[in-house]
Amino acid sequence: MAYVVPVPSTPSLAVSNGQRFPIRRVFCVGRNYAKHAAEMGASGERGAAPMIFCKPADAVVDASSGAEIAYPPKTEKLHHEVELAVAISSGGRDIPVDQAMGHVYGYGVALDLTLRDLQEKAKAKGHPWDWAKGFDRSAPVSALVPAADMGHPQAGRVWLEVDGALRQEGDLDDQIWSVAEVIAAISEHVELKAGDLILTGTPSGVGPLVKGSVVRAGIDGVGEMGITVV
Ligand code: MN
Repeated sequence: MAYVVPVPSTPSLAVSNGQRFPIRRVFCVGRNYAKHAAEMGASGERGAAPMIFCKPADAVVDASSGAEIAYPPKTEKLHHEVELAVAISSGGRDIPVDQAMGHVYGYGVALDLTLRDLQEKAKAKGHPWDWAKGFDRSAPVSALVPAADMGHPQAGRVWLEVDGALRQEGDLDDQIWSVAEVIAAISEHVELKAGDLILTGTPSGVGPLVKGSVVRAGIDGVGEMGITVV
């Protein structure tokens, strides 16, 4: 087979065992912590289904050794959101909640970087969020840890610091939709497959980054990561 343009490379993340996890698609959960929903002016009620949006696979950045993220164009409001990342090892359609965790390879700490001004404009017009959420390098992620080594975290402090000052703090057990429920819900719409990555939503305290911001983020029992905005 001769391709007419170069075949794109597969984005991937480091794994704590020295191997790599290839990225197929990135799904993100919106408003999965009541206090964050409130700070966005939204209801923290558990609705009929989790609110899901996507980022391109190549928005993912391996930040296992830190990463420099260039301040993106067309915005004046780059915001941080720290989130639990869930790496999917095997797929399926209509996955039952009680079988969902069997599809998880492992976990990491991710940033769902967001252009809040573009998101606010999109919301006001009823337009898609893509430019606010799916820009280049908008998803830096720590090394992944296999669930075989760490189990499945049900609770754990989720935190983010900018220049040494605490900005975000929450706990995984505050999530409105559990990881298993999110996997089940996504698989009602599309067939989940190995390599899919899910960012499970952010706790309250989101806020702006500027050129020079040094970000550290972590989830107790999962890991830590960091980026610098340049
Ligand atoms: Mn988010």
